[in-house]
Amino acid sequence: MIDILIIGGGIVGMATALELQSREPKAKILVLEKEAGPATHQSGHNSGVIHAGVYYTPGSLKAKFCREGVQATQSFCAEHAIPMENCGKLIIATNEAEVTRMQALGDRARQNDIVIEDVDQVGLRQMEPNINGLAALYSPTTGITNYQQVTRVMSELFVARGGAIHYGEQVISGCETASHVSVKTNASMFDVGRVFSCAGLHSDKLIRAFSQTPGYQVVPFRGEYFRILNQSENLVKHLIYPVPDPKDPSSVCI
Ligand SMILES: Cc1cc2nc3c(=O)[nH]c(=O)nc-3n(C[C@H](O)[C@H](O)[C@H](O)COP(=O)(O)OP(=O)(O)OC[C@H]3O[C@@H](n4cnc5c(N)ncnc54)[C@H](O)[C@@H]3O)c2cc1C
Repeated sequence: MIDILIIGGGIVGMATALELQSREPKAKILVLEKEAGPATHQSGHNSGVIHAGVYYTPGSLKAKFCREGVQATQSFCAEHAIPMENCGKLIIATNEAEVTRMQALGDRARQNDIVIEDVDQVGLRQMEPNINGLAALYSPTTGITNYQQVTRVMSELFVARGGAIHYGEQVISGCETASHVSVKTNASMFDVGRVFSCAGLHSDKLIRAFSQTPGYQVVPFRGEYFRILNQSENLVKHLIYPVPDPKDPSSVCI
């Protein structure tokens, strides 16, 4: 019998698989991923930013995990020769209201023990000649990497250490009994000890597939990426972010 079944081969599924494998080396662990390979959803289509954790409420788990996660991500990338760039990030205020909000954000970052520097208009011009703004916050520890590659390396490590991954196998439904969990897929049935659902934006559907009611609904919205043609690659040197607007949740950029 499989001891642990993990649904989803994105970065969360693979990180969960690796962690459980190191905590329970004798457990038989299986990852089911409905796509043909790892990280074909969010984990392979994100902005690649290793966030320093500027925005999170001081003392919150998000703030703590983000701080720890930066270190863990950088060490993992270094250990496995995954390219990383420590480009730093500028959060730029373009009017007085944003300057006030930006200062509050700087205070919050400092309470979180995150290195953050105030940049005035002249300094901003020197750092980024093509950007107009009144002032900025500079986060030198924000960087970028390739999370598709990170997830692929994680999946290779997991398999090399004895784990199994079935690609192209979709979980259709499941039900829990006192002794085990029965899981039906498009290809077979499994009786397993424990199930970890790491289904990303399908997580609410998965909860329903296990005859439970999620207390939330994932609402997808379409985003667009633009590539600037015929412009210098060096138009900007840092990651450029706006000051988040509390009235506009989408301005808290990911
Ligand atoms: C546009 C965008 C930009 C982002 N930028 C950043 C960034 O710069 N930095 C950062 O840290 N984070 C960023 N994020 C967030 C980050 O990408 C996600 O938090 C992370 O990838 C979530 O990983 P996951 O494994 O939970 O989800 P996913 O990568 O979506 O993986 C879930 C997996 O579950 C599988 N699955 C679902 N249902 C089933 C089923 N029934 N059976 C089998 N398999 C199933 C899916 O096929 C999928 O592969 C961004 C997100 C988005 C959308």
